[in-house]
Amino acid sequence: MSGLKITVVGGGIGGAAAALALTRAGCDVHVCEQVASKTEVGAGIQVSPNATRLLHRYGLADALRARAVKPRHIEVRRWDDGRILSREELGDVAEEAFGAPYYHFHRADLLSILSDALPTGRAHSGRRCVDVVQTKDGARTIFDDGSTIDSDVVVGADGIHSVVRKILFGDERPRFSGNVAYRGLAPADRLAHLRLRHNATNWMGPGGHFVHYFVSGGRFVNFVAVSEQAKWERESWNDRGEIEDAKKCFAGWHPQIHEILGAVDETFKWALFDRVPLSRWGVGRVTLLGDACHPMLPYMAQGAAQSIEDGATLAACLAGIGPSGVIEALTKYEELRRPRTAAIQLAARGNAVTFHLPDGAEQEKRDIEMSARTGLSPRRAAIFGFDAERLQIMPQS
Ligand SMILES: Cc1cc2nc3c(=O)[nH]c(=O)nc-3n(C[C@H](O)[C@H](O)[C@H](O)COP(=O)(O)OP(=O)(O)OC[C@H]3O[C@@H](n4cnc5c(N)ncnc54)[C@H](O)[C@@H]3O)c2cc1C
Repeated sequence: MSGLKITVVGGGIGGAAAALALTRAGCDVHVCEQVASKTEVGAGIQVSPNATRLLHRYGLADALRARAVKPRHIEVRRWDDGRILSREELGDVAEEAFGAPYYHFHRADLLSILSDALPTGRAHSGRRCVDVVQTKDGARTIFDDGSTIDSDVVVGADGIHSVVRKILFGDERPRFSGNVAYRGLAPADRLAHLRLRHNATNWMGPGGHFVHYFVSGGRFVNFVAVSEQAKWERESWNDRGEIEDAKKCFAGWHPQIHEILGAVDETFKWALFDRVPLSRWGVGRVTLLGDACHPMLPYMAQGAAQSIEDGATLAACLAGIGPSGVIEALTKYEELRRPRTAAIQLAARGNAVTFHLPDGAEQEKRDIEMSARTGLSPRRAAIFGFDAERLQIMPQS
């Protein structure tokens, strides 16, 4: 038992999963979330085996299975005629290959499974961190009500607008990608006539892509409709969107996409931001995880999975360490995590181009390469097969 006292700032998926991992490693963990009652947006999330493997070790296999949908394939389709460009096996095949399932969730379900598993009294809501200062032998987290917590380690798991990151490295805003995403949930019974399969389906076309999959035990179809937009001028980073605007972005696309959009009651519009990979994640006894240090475009479906991996590696580095070993352990943590997360951030940026190619020679080349694929792509297999509790630097593909 390390008994290290750790404050995690931010009770999102990354912070909650890290708190579970750190508690399991014997640390004395408190999670401080700014909002009074933390919920997730009404949307879905894909969780790959590299993350579910870890969550299973935290004792969550039954809770996850009870709320998950297990998709059979990742399917890519052409935007206009719906031709299938590639189909990669998930389902039982992936579970057997990687020792853990690929799941789809409603985000609120995933977050409540993680939060409910935290030991009683360790999750604190309505506590907004405004400063973190290094002390002689620890770090002090300061909240907006003037209260403080002293601990051996502070972990900023406070998302893309991270205050902890800003305190450590200054105010550098993330980059607007030129992509916006409409997101929403359609009741599955309104779409029964489409006979949608339990897949993760990605329609690729000029200047956009459209992803859909089932969540909530199959009761809802989640969609993410990404299109290109030159500027994001609003103050907020997400906004209530108009379904008619989403439909206009996908004018001329396959009727199935319009059927899904037509079955939705409301949609939210998100500006998609990322950052170039950071060269450092921590200073002294303060470090970062998840979107606070490696926000990425969602085109690898890995942002949350990587934040879950971060927590597992951090806990493995701190397990059995006393206060005097903290700085070395945190250095090791970021050395282990930065190359992998940077590679995935950059791959996600690359997909922003590949997914949105206009019809022409490059698109044809892409489609031929995709159609030739059998089994899971090597890149995906390298991501899914990774065990974040193993403390060794892995070469990135
Ligand atoms: C359209 C879209 C689709 C996506 N799909 C997937 C997917 O399929 N699979 C996947 O793995 N990832 C996906 N992602 C990425 C994923 O959602 C994020 O990477 C993940 O949620 C990040 O988790 P986090 O805990 O690091 O940050 P967040 O979820 O942002 O949580 C940060 C928390 O910190 C709190 N906080 C902020 N500031 C403070 C403060 N000062 N004091 C206290 N608390 C604070 C916030 O209230 C929040 O609760 C997607 C993202 C988008 C936009």
